[in-house]
Amino acid sequence: MNKITFDKIHTQTKQKKLMEMMQLSALACHDIANTNCQSSTCPICLSDDIFFYVEKFGFKLDKCRQCQQIFCNPMPNHEQLNCYYNGEMGEFENQFFADSFENRIPIFDYRIQIIHQHLKSGNLLDIGSAIGIFIEALNRAETKLNVSCCEPSKDACERLSKRFPQVTLYNDWLQNLPGTMQYEGISLWDTIEHIDQIDAFCTKVYSLLKPGGYWFFSTPNTTSFEWEIAGKDHVQLLPPGHINLFNPKSIKILLDKHGFELLKILTPNGSLDVSYIEKLIQSTSKYDANLGVYLKERFKETDFKDGFIQLISQTNNAGNMLVIAQKPE
Ligand SMILES: [Zn+2]
Repeated sequence: MNKITFDKIHTQTKQKKLMEMMQLSALACHDIANTNCQSSTCPICLSDDIFFYVEKFGFKLDKCRQCQQIFCNPMPNHEQLNCYYNGEMGEFENQFFADSFENRIPIFDYRIQIIHQHLKSGNLLDIGSAIGIFIEALNRAETKLNVSCCEPSKDACERLSKRFPQVTLYNDWLQNLPGTMQYEGISLWDTIEHIDQIDAFCTKVYSLLKPGGYWFFSTPNTTSFEWEIAGKDHVQLLPPGHINLFNPKSIKILLDKHGFELLKILTPNGSLDVSYIEKLIQSTSKYDANLGVYLKERFKETDFKDGFIQLISQTNNAGNMLVIAQKPE
């Protein structure tokens, strides 16, 4: 039974400071004029059947009725995104990852098991390595993969090169990587939801993979237990950080569009959903109508809770997806 919980990976300090930091960072972003136009179509399935979903931190998010994608509209522009990632928010995130480093290792242990089932050796490019929790977990798993990291943050790269001097490091955006390199595998953990130009990004990932190469990534799953209950209050509705929020259907459309074969979607961490929703329904009576009263009582029973966690994990109803895709031979 997976015992990863919300409080373990989101430290108390982070939970307290996140909203305050988001308000400040968003304010700074809004000082920069957004030159992007509002789109009349969904960035994933291109349907024009979209509607206004919610506004957070002064950014508007739309939702697609066809593929359920939730996306910022208009997308923040590059000046705004630079301001967000290179301001205090970047340092705050790195510190938060440092504080929850050990508690996050088990999340990566499972991902590494899945990677090793498909790829035991060869070159793996990790995009968005941050301070290297995944790299540490790979080392502990005594991997035979030869790992390179692509990470745009200078601060994170300094931490990475100190801790992992053997790893090849590209302190740059993915788009700037030379097109001559090709890898057997690419990993991307909880990053795709931050990407604005999603088609250009997928094209680049495809070009960097050898035929038969694997793309492993994780991202929130908005058609899941925790998202269905929390809805518009979900803590991960965080623009201009999270600007493209997926679900299994929209992931399949995106991968098809770019020539990848979708091998599998897994949602292993149902315990995160349950611990997050438990916290939410205990803090207010607002969710009582949405199963709140019933679940509040049932979650006190360990058997129910463990069984429920297993059920949502195994039926792709948990809030974080692990996607395994392949570039055809
Ligand atoms: Zn759509």
